[in-house]
Amino acid sequence: MKSITFNHQNTSAIGIGTWHIGEGNNMMTESEMAAMRYGLDHGINVIDTAEMYGEGKSETLIGNVLKDYHRNDIQLISKFYPYHATPKLIEESLKASLKRLQTDYLDLYLLHWRGKTPLSETVIGLERMVKAGLIRNWGVSNFDRSDLEELFSVPDGENCRINEDLYNIGSRGIEYSVLPWQKKNHVSFIGYSPFGSDGGEFLKIKPVLTEMAQQKGVSVHQLLLAWVLRNHDLLSIPKTSSVEHMQSNLEAIDISFTKDELELLDKYYPAPKNEGRLEMI
Ligand code: NDP
Repeated sequence: MKSITFNHQNTSAIGIGTWHIGEGNNMMTESEMAAMRYGLDHGINVIDTAEMYGEGKSETLIGNVLKDYHRNDIQLISKFYPYHATPKLIEESLKASLKRLQTDYLDLYLLHWRGKTPLSETVIGLERMVKAGLIRNWGVSNFDRSDLEELFSVPDGENCRINEDLYNIGSRGIEYSVLPWQKKNHVSFIGYSPFGSDGGEFLKIKPVLTEMAQQKGVSVHQLLLAWVLRNHDLLSIPKTSSVEHMQSNLEAIDISFTKDELELLDKYYPAPKNEGRLEMI
C-alpha cells in the first residue's frame, strides 16, 4: 500500500474516521467493527476519534477492536472538547478517553476546535500530558492559518504536530494558505470528510464526477478519495461502517489522474483564489 510521511512516521495514506460509529444497534456495531478490522488487516495504521463522537461510544468500540492488535503498530488519535481545554480538564478528558480506548497512551491528542481558553493554557496542559507519558504528541483541529500562527507564538506552541481540517473537492479553502503554512512549518495535515460527510450535504456531486468515474471504471466515492490523496502529502480519514466500502476506499489509494483530468476537475471545483473563511463541519 502507498504510504505517506505523517507525524514524522511512515503511515498508510488513509486513516479510519469514526464519527457516529458505536451509536447504532448490535448489527450496526458488528458491521462497524468488521469494517475497522478489515482496514487494519489490510494496512491502515491510523484511527481518528474524539470524546465527542457518541459521547465516548466511538472510543469504546475502538477499544474493543484494538484488544486484538499490537497497540504500537497503530497511531491512535483522539480529541477533546474546547471547553475541556484547561490543564486540569485536559487530564480528566484524556484519562477517560484512555480508559474507553483500553490503552495507556495516545499517539496524538487534539484540541477539537478553538474555544475560549487561551492557547497558552491549553499548550501547558498538553505538554504536561506528554511529560507524563500519556500522549506521544499533540495537535489541533479546525485551525486556520492565523490560529496556527497564534499557536506558534505561545511558549511550546511550535510543538504542535498536526492540524486536522475539512478537505474535499468541494471544500478546497485550506489549499490557499493553511497547507503551504503547515508544510513550511513541518506541521502534518489531516483532511476530514473526504466525501463531504453524511448525505453529501456539503459536497455537490456534479455530472463531471459521475462521468469521469464511469470513464475510469471506479465509483464516485473512489474518485473523491483519490482526488484528496492526489499529491501524497496528507492523511485523509474516510469513515465507513461497511467492509465493502472499506475495501473500495483502500482500492482508491492506487487511482491516479492525468494532468487533463485534474484540469477538468479544477474547472468545476476551482482552487481558492483568496483566503476565505475556514470551512468546518
Ligand atoms: P466522510 O466524508 O468520511 O463520509 C462518510 C459517509 O460516506 C458515510 O455516510 C459512509 O457511509 C459513506 N461512505 C464511506 N465510504 C464509502 C464508499 N466507498 N462508497 C459509498 N459511501 C461511502 O464523513 P465524516 O464526516 O465521517 O468524515 C470522516 C472522519 O473525519 C470522521 O468520521 C471523523 O473521524 C473525522 N472528522 C473530524 C472532524 C473534526 O472537526 N476534526 C469533523 C468531521 C469529521 P457508510 O458508513 O455506509 O460506508
